Amino acid sequence: MTILSTLNDKQREAASITDSHVRIIAGAGSGKTRVLMARIVYLIQECGVYPNRIMAITFTNKATNEMKERLTASLGKEALAVRISTIHSLCVRILREDARSIGYPTSFTILDTDDQKQLLRPIYKEMDLDSKEFNLSHVLGMISGYKSEKLSPKQAMDYAMTDQQETIVKIYSQYEKKRLEIKAMDFDDLLIEALRLLETDPKVKEKWQNRLDYIHVDEFQDVDPIQYAIVRHLVGPHAFLCVVGDPDQTIYTWRGASVDIILHFDRDFQPCKSVILNQNYRSTKPILDASNALIQNNRDRIKKDLFTEIPGNDKIILHIATEDSDEPVYIARKIHERHQQGIAYKDMAVLYRSNYSSRAFERVFKSVRIPYKIYGGIRFYERQEIKDALAYLKLCTFPEPEDPKQLSFDLAILRIINQPRRGIGQKTIEKLRDQAQSLGVNLLTVLKDPQDLSSGLKKKCQDFYALIYDLQQHRDTLSLEDFLEYVIEKSGYRQMLEENHETERLDNLKELKSDIAQSLKEDPAMTLESYLQEVSLFTSKASDEALDCVSFMTVHASKGLEFDTVFIVNFNEGIFPSSRSLNEGGNKALEEERRLCYVAMTRAKTHLTISWNTGFSYMLDTFKTKSRFMMEIPAEECFMEGQKNHEKKEERQIQSIGIPSRKKKVEFKVKDRVEHKVFGPGIVLKIEREVATIAFKHPYGIKQLNATHPSLKKS
Ligand code: ATP
Ligand code: MG
Repeated sequence: MTILSTLNDKQREAASITDSHVRIIAGAGSGKTRVLMARIVYLIQECGVYPNRIMAITFTNKATNEMKERLTASLGKEALAVRISTIHSLCVRILREDARSIGYPTSFTILDTDDQKQLLRPIYKEMDLDSKEFNLSHVLGMISGYKSEKLSPKQAMDYAMTDQQETIVKIYSQYEKKRLEIKAMDFDDLLIEALRLLETDPKVKEKWQNRLDYIHVDEFQDVDPIQYAIVRHLVGPHAFLCVVGDPDQTIYTWRGASVDIILHFDRDFQPCKSVILNQNYRSTKPILDASNALIQNNRDRIKKDLFTEIPGNDKIILHIATEDSDEPVYIARKIHERHQQGIAYKDMAVLYRSNYSSRAFERVFKSVRIPYKIYGGIRFYERQEIKDALAYLKLCTFPEPEDPKQLSFDLAILRIINQPRRGIGQKTIEKLRDQAQSLGVNLLTVLKDPQDLSSGLKKKCQDFYALIYDLQQHRDTLSLEDFLEYVIEKSGYRQMLEENHETERLDNLKELKSDIAQSLKEDPAMTLESYLQEVSLFTSKASDEALDCVSFMTVHASKGLEFDTVFIVNFNEGIFPSSRSLNEGGNKALEEERRLCYVAMTRAKTHLTISWNTGFSYMLDTFKTKSRFMMEIPAEECFMEGQKNHEKKEERQIQSIGIPSRKKKVEFKVKDRVEHKVFGPGIVLKIEREVATIAFKHPYGIKQLNATHPSLKKS
């Protein structure tokens, strides 16, 4: 049996074209990646091509590893010689050989984001700039933008419209100077400089062209112009390029990817054979039909007729949960059921649009002991901002009996004393620690009255102590959710994240507030101490990471993967599609969100569940509703679950409003928008007799008020 016999006619045709360039445009699960790998095996086994004359470029490291594994299974050790890598590692390889030709040592340093920030700091000092006004991440983003537009600082200056932009270009100019002084490259430079090397040194270009006969690129719909230019240089006069992609899965246009590249590929590469694959081998009919129906709502697309012969008995399950916390409980139960039916955990995935969504699911999975792994991300309670916020909260707790001196405070202090920056350096901290040790007290005590420091430093330490003291004073005057809000605000932590445009971290902190709210709902007697105790179970490094785990990941990270059972969760309007993207990108962004949804749905082989909940969202500042994409999924492919509970809850809510008050009638019902004389606009979360729980805008948060009080009006 040859490798080609495992393919259908069309796939075989595509895999065995050896005398021209090849473009495979095909929908999800139609075997593009499979054909690409079969083609490599075919070239080696049947055509005698040397493995090291074949190159394959994948989108992620995970895809690189998977491809290597699969090829090794077919070819044995020979597969190791095939040049498989991501475009970034390919560029590193090209540069490590010949960077000298463009003025770098071959041992050049690669700068990650932290290194870049280190490089900016002295520049800010020299230019007397404030990182509040010119925040580092924003400036680095601008620099990256200039680089990907191939604008030198001089050219960028011509585009600068405001004083601020001019200053950023000046920073860019200095950044480049410093970077070149130390002969380092950031991630953008890796691509740009590899391209420059190939463009300017014909010997290097020739060398690479002479090495390669067959070049392959997977996920070609998400290639950007610089990456494309690099690939073009590698293809010599006798080499052939094979690209595979699905324009309906273009999900990185926000990073410069351009679908036109695959659409016009045959103009650049002649002769070119285009192959269209129509049969999907991954998903059952209900899943594929629903995905096809959804993507047809995009106007800007080429029509495809993707079909499957896998019948499938299971319809898509749509699940509506009334509360935030009900959704993961339902999903965990489903996963448990599937597992009992013999589906391994690793064949199941929970997909979400944004990272913060993992929180509620992690919590429930942990408590019911379903092993899970966050793929391409960090577990919620291990994320930096969550650990920082918890450290601040820790400093506001009462001593534990086994730690009367509160030495556990020390770790928390070390974590956040300079988060945000307070100018208390490592040397000072060492001094303080010595003092604490010799006095037999904790660091906080020393910070109150530190010895042996300059008056400036002493003041900084005392200010920090005063902050913690102030936080401690507020812990019992505010509800726990409001207290978290207060801590984030007062410590300057929020401001730091806002200045750095760290939206994802800010989202995670809002999600932490939901976490507290949910825990309080489950245990109204919960204290700050008991909450921290509970989450400490989550913050300790996961030692129980089993091999057979459910995968948690964002939809972006799920590209190219497949699972027997997929759960798309938090399928709420504003979350998926993301209101932030829609606000920034209008209809184009909506179409990209729809493509993302298509990617998510088509990851499933036999079982797809889409769920959402109608709880309150701190993120959106309102009650959640289902995603607009729900309306685009044909009802006949779906089976609804949870609707009854939802209706029951609505009924309960309505009844609760109808309970006649002993004094005055309550005018509001849950979800009503109200206006308070002092706290401003809010939304009613709960009504019990005359007590209304209302969510007000920052900084007021959730308050319980007398619903019949004249200060409160319907808005
Ligand atoms: P995506 O667009 O999501 O990247 P793809 O087009 O790359 O998908 P593959 O991942 O290559 O699709 O294939 C999807 C699934 O179908 C895989 O499990 C693959 O092994 C299987 N498959 C593809 N072609 C065939 C075939 N001819 N016979 C049997 N199984 C096939
Ligand atoms: Mg693929």
